[in-house]
Amino acid sequence: MPVSLFCPCSEPMVSSEDISMDYKLPRTIGDTNTHHALSDLYFCNDCRALRCRKCSEPQIEFKFCARCRHKADPHEITRVCPKNCFDCPKCAAPLSAKSQTHAPAEGRPKGKSFLFSCGNCDWTYDTGVETRPRPLKVILQDQRADMNTELFDRLREHYALEKDIRSFLSSRKVTSDDLVGRVTPDQLARLMAGKRNSYPDFEPTDSDSYCKVQSEFPESHPLSTRISHICKACRGDLVKLDRSDFLSTKFYKISSASDVLPEIEIFRLSGKLDNLRRNSTNNLCVNFANSQSFSLEINVSTLTYLSSDLDPVEDSANPGVEHGHMVKLTLPCQRFTLGPRPDKFTRPENLVQGIPTIALDQESKASRVELIAKRSASLGRLSSGKIDTTRDCPLDEGANWATIPLLVEIGEVEEGIRLRLPLFVTVHTTHQISPSHPAVPYGFWAILDLGPIAV
Ligand SMILES: [Zn+2]
Ligand SMILES: [Zn+2]
Ligand SMILES: [Zn+2]
Ligand SMILES: [Zn+2]
Repeated sequence: MPVSLFCPCSEPMVSSEDISMDYKLPRTIGDTNTHHALSDLYFCNDCRALRCRKCSEPQIEFKFCARCRHKADPHEITRVCPKNCFDCPKCAAPLSAKSQTHAPAEGRPKGKSFLFSCGNCDWTYDTGVETRPRPLKVILQDQRADMNTELFDRLREHYALEKDIRSFLSSRKVTSDDLVGRVTPDQLARLMAGKRNSYPDFEPTDSDSYCKVQSEFPESHPLSTRISHICKACRGDLVKLDRSDFLSTKFYKISSASDVLPEIEIFRLSGKLDNLRRNSTNNLCVNFANSQSFSLEINVSTLTYLSSDLDPVEDSANPGVEHGHMVKLTLPCQRFTLGPRPDKFTRPENLVQGIPTIALDQESKASRVELIAKRSASLGRLSSGKIDTTRDCPLDEGANWATIPLLVEIGEVEEGIRLRLPLFVTVHTTHQISPSHPAVPYGFWAILDLGPIAV
């Protein structure tokens, strides 16, 4: 069951008269284009908000050829290396070029030819003898242009011949003399026989083989780019590169949302992984894990009643009677604390302690050992498969994670409808990143995708 995050940057601008209206959910939250995986988002520390591809701006800092290290102007349109770096058109491996000098012969002055060969496959290309000294790139460009002209001429002749043959067969102006030299004597004989028997469909040539010319040339190596990203709202850096050297792989700053926001996962409390059904009560749980080195206070809220696909229904409505197409959500625990992520969790032997109990299985030894070490109270709550709605604390907790229960009652919803539940998460912390960044709380919408509903 995937969890995505909602980016509000597609929300319509709110006019002053709209502001009084009470929208329970953002108006674009039903649009899946506004849902993003945590790993695809940035978090702007100045705006204290998520930034997606649409509300961040890429800026090309460097454009260069990774093969010859040629540095190109990042604002130029060119996308390929302007030097002699060529790739195989078949397998994209680098091509090597060998030149050969040709002595003057048959009225032709001294010349040079170039043979390209691929280091990976058996593709080769011979430029033929060049008598004028010209850059390799220009030679190939001209040959490609010549190929296009030749291809066009051949196609034109192909269709002209086809038209003439049709006129000839239907006794128009075209005579057999007009076809001599354009078709083989054997074809001509068959055409003349066909004309007598009024045989209408004669295919003069196979257009595919007729138009076959050399169509693959050494390809110029594409340029690589290094891109930084800025926040469209405050113009602050989201991804800042080391600008001192275009070949440096250093970053001065990467504001990934996954480094800031808690990671959210959703699980079924009872083991079955099949689709949720309509007219059913489902015991789920949501796990929050903190990746930061300081603790976070989390507040979670949602709407009590939802109609199908993310449509809120008035809380006062009676779900069973007036609104058949209804989902009722109960979140008994809405406030909890996530501890800081211990440093030791980065070591492989301690990794398992950062995994919520609900996600542990019997598959690996580390996981089995960890399950044995768990407190029996939380294990009992997780394995009972039932949610005690009067208990307002997490089902289970670890150093930096907490698992909270979520009860989803599904009414007469349409079969096959994909159920997505919105959760509003508010994060409070007392930790100050820098003097210019006070510890301001922030909030975001998480969308829990429960998949299509079965009958
Ligand atoms: Zn956005
Ligand atoms: Zn190059
Ligand atoms: Zn190749
Ligand atoms: Zn910003």
